[in-house]
Amino acid sequence: MLCCCDVPHALGRRGLLAMAIAAAAMPRHGNAAPGSAGAPDPALIADLVVANHILFDQGVVDGFGHVSVRHDKDPNRYLLARSMAPALVVADDIMEFDLDSTPVDPRGRAVYLERFIHGEIYKLRPDVVAIVHSHSPSVIPFADSKITLRPMNHIAGFLGTGAPVFDIRVAGGPATDMLIRNNALGKALAATLGPHPVTLMRGHGSVAVAQSIRHVVFRAVYTEVNARVEAEALAMGGKPEFLNAQEAAAAMKTNDGLVGRPWELWKRHAEGKS
Ligand SMILES: [Zn+2]
Repeated sequence: MLCCCDVPHALGRRGLLAMAIAAAAMPRHGNAAPGSAGAPDPALIADLVVANHILFDQGVVDGFGHVSVRHDKDPNRYLLARSMAPALVVADDIMEFDLDSTPVDPRGRAVYLERFIHGEIYKLRPDVVAIVHSHSPSVIPFADSKITLRPMNHIAGFLGTGAPVFDIRVAGGPATDMLIRNNALGKALAATLGPHPVTLMRGHGSVAVAQSIRHVVFRAVYTEVNARVEAEALAMGGKPEFLNAQEAAAAMKTNDGLVGRPWELWKRHAEGKS
């Protein structure tokens, strides 16, 4: 189910070290916690750790936000860090959850309040392998206004089908704290996402989904970039001419084959700082 892009081609010393730590940290089949799907591929854990670091380094997440991946041994499980700042995540912080977002082996660790975003999207979208939730700042104006986020250039072709806006008031009423803190809200958010790669969240942030960790990092980064560029175009006073649907679809298809290039750059930049 995982794309081959999830397997590092050139690990390097840091990559090998991360894989070794991951292999030591996650439960084995023989002594896994009851109900566990078993140890994920260490390369998958290593990529998830790197994704956390890249998303911080690229300004998508800060102390908040999270990235998950579907378990490679069981599509009804997903992997997500314990509640902590993404930039500080190491392999030992990665936890296994079922699709109701209950941790399989919590061991007293705090979990993200908004983990239900992940479980409910994985339930609704069997094609989704990785998810990013963030509050990346340039996206917020589009979540809070009627101005639609559309692809400004080919790199953001994945936005060609639009980014629907989730309004928590519809499912949660007028007095929530805006967080997706239960399965009902997660299910409503997943329904708004529908078949799209990105959904915006009024008064909150956004969610990106994709077929692999590398693809979802690409989409999360370029959702933020596209929002910044679109805002600049709007500030110029004109009316941006976006990619049309055919151009966007063709560009997305091309870019989906190229996500490894920025991944390697972002990885080197992020890990060089850690
Ligand atoms: Zn949030």
